[in-house]
Amino acid sequence: MASLAPAPEQRRPADMATVTRLDADTAWAAFMRRDRSWDGRVIGAVKTTGIYCKPSCPARRPKREHVVFYSSTKEARDAGFRPCLR
Ligand SMILES: [Zn+2]
Repeated sequence: MASLAPAPEQRRPADMATVTRLDADTAWAAFMRRDRSWDGRVIGAVKTTGIYCKPSCPARRPKREHVVFYSSTKEARDAGFRPCLR
């Protein structure tokens, strides 16, 4: 009987952003639109400030290369980021 278990190399380290590159592009676009429908679905964390934001946050947008995306605030906090207060 064939095994359906995923190959070990498909697993990702726990501290990596869990969204794929395609999803990150989509997430970034949502941030640029300040799209409320993406709140709760993706978190953008700014490496230079240590702060994370939801897509609808009114704060000025950081440079794309400084942003990492997470799928939850818990993941962002676990990675050492603090919540944005805006
Ligand atoms: Zn913010």
